[in-house]
Amino acid sequence: MNPAPLTDFSKLCIHTMTTKPWDIETAMDKYAEAGIGGITVWRQWLEGQNIEKIGDDLRARNLEIVSLCRGGFFPSATKAGLDAAIEDNQKAILEAAELGAPLIVLVCGAIPGQSLENSRGQIIDGICKILPLAEEHNIKLAIEPLHPVYADDRSAINTMASANEVCDKIDHDLLGIALDVYHVWWDPELKKQIEITARANRLFAFHICDWMTPTADLLNDRGLMGEGCINIPEIRALVEANGFQGFNEVEIFSNRWWSEDQGKFLSDIKNAYLNHC
Ligand code: ZN
Repeated sequence: MNPAPLTDFSKLCIHTMTTKPWDIETAMDKYAEAGIGGITVWRQWLEGQNIEKIGDDLRARNLEIVSLCRGGFFPSATKAGLDAAIEDNQKAILEAAELGAPLIVLVCGAIPGQSLENSRGQIIDGICKILPLAEEHNIKLAIEPLHPVYADDRSAINTMASANEVCDKIDHDLLGIALDVYHVWWDPELKKQIEITARANRLFAFHICDWMTPTADLLNDRGLMGEGCINIPEIRALVEANGFQGFNEVEIFSNRWWSEDQGKFLSDIKNAYLNHC
């Protein structure tokens, strides 16, 4: 299955983490100059900044603020840790409201040595505790299932099915799923789960990058689209056939690309977007 070809950058969104060496001012200027339609801001880029002003500056450059990354990391072995996670996620909701971001991506968390089932329970509790504030500010929350290789310390939610199960249990219009091809491309249930997610109106975000063979670093060796083995056009075709009309968000953590000239990287991203997505 082939999706409609991408011919412009109006639906291209870039995560500030993708061009990690650039500060927020540089990123917004470069993205805008490149004619890119959207930006997802990582919270590190907001530390110590006037968040409302950054939101205004992004909108003045016609960059749509697609989401804020990231909240989550709910599980903890201690009560104090659980409370701190709630507090941090509430802070993220306030930051999203100040920035004018409609959505927060949740990397839900896990702790080595604690059962994944326990962690999933703490994740559900945590999301339920922050939903009232999300409601107050009308901020959507998107659970991003992470590849099982991260089940030790980054997320106990590792498949679309597991994310859908949590969404079903909580059953709230503001809670949905961020599909990142890096995490779910291998899943034999992917097609079915995209259909289930879309039918429940909870496919909130679509992240793209590629899987390198071999992968040199489990966290920071993601590939540019077309460098690896993920059939991105096929997955984009699936999400679009199921009604997804949001941005294609480029989220690449890569020591290799971060050590390159970021201007060249941005132009390579644009080429890869047109030719391999
Ligand atoms: Zn992602």
